[in-house]
Amino acid sequence: MLTIGEYQLHSLKVQEFLFEGGPLPGRNLDPSKPLPKIRLATRLLLIVGRGRRILVDTGIGELCWTSRWAANATSPYRLREELGKVGLTPGDITDLVFTHLHSDHVGGAFQCGGDRLVPVFPYAQVIVQEENYRTACRPEERERLSYNETIIDEFRQLSLFHTISGTQEIFPGIDVIISNGHTRAQQLVRVTDGNTTLLHGADLIPTTAHYPASRVTGNDIDARTVIEEKAAILEEAYRHGWILFFGHDPFRHAATVLQRPTGFVPGPAPEF
Ligand SMILES: [Zn+2]
Repeated sequence: MLTIGEYQLHSLKVQEFLFEGGPLPGRNLDPSKPLPKIRLATRLLLIVGRGRRILVDTGIGELCWTSRWAANATSPYRLREELGKVGLTPGDITDLVFTHLHSDHVGGAFQCGGDRLVPVFPYAQVIVQEENYRTACRPEERERLSYNETIIDEFRQLSLFHTISGTQEIFPGIDVIISNGHTRAQQLVRVTDGNTTLLHGADLIPTTAHYPASRVTGNDIDARTVIEEKAAILEEAYRHGWILFFGHDPFRHAATVLQRPTGFVPGPAPEF
């Protein structure tokens, strides 16, 4: 657990999966060699304090319906077990903040109940960026497979679904920063008390392997924007000693930023 101001932060590693790294040819051109996949995790950031229990993203989930992601999951979805370690159940979550609505970040918000989907967090208000929601409703071809129409439809029907627009404070000491390179209006969640700051890197900086600004992800919609946005964030994190939280790193949940002649590299971060 990490304490920042009045909040306690927890890192919940809920699942592992394999990812092909982005758009690939529709068929393998050399059937004798399988296409390479990289090992990733889904980690959720839980923020508890001031009467709120806020979960940032929900991961892939049990996923009987988003086959693309479910097929790549290499472990069961351990949400309840991970929440249980801090004495909570899904019904205790007051707020779900989604960095963006790609299926590997929202799938866990629903579970299969017979022939329909049922919300996993019945009492949580859902906070998403309006522009990202509009993008999810009409994704461009490059990221069409990353959004799941069924899940987006389910969100639309939730009475506690709530959209916001732009960089802003969402709770005292918690704000969101907008990033447009991975998808439109991804929001990075930042928690600060003026001394210690933690920034959820979302899919702009999803693992320590993404520290070099030029290392973009295969499914980013705009690599040049990713590079510019990431360079600015790494610079700021380095100058102010921010802790970066990684939603997809299978080995490390957080790191600081150090500067070396070769560029920025991951530094030590507190355990939590
Ligand atoms: Zn992702």
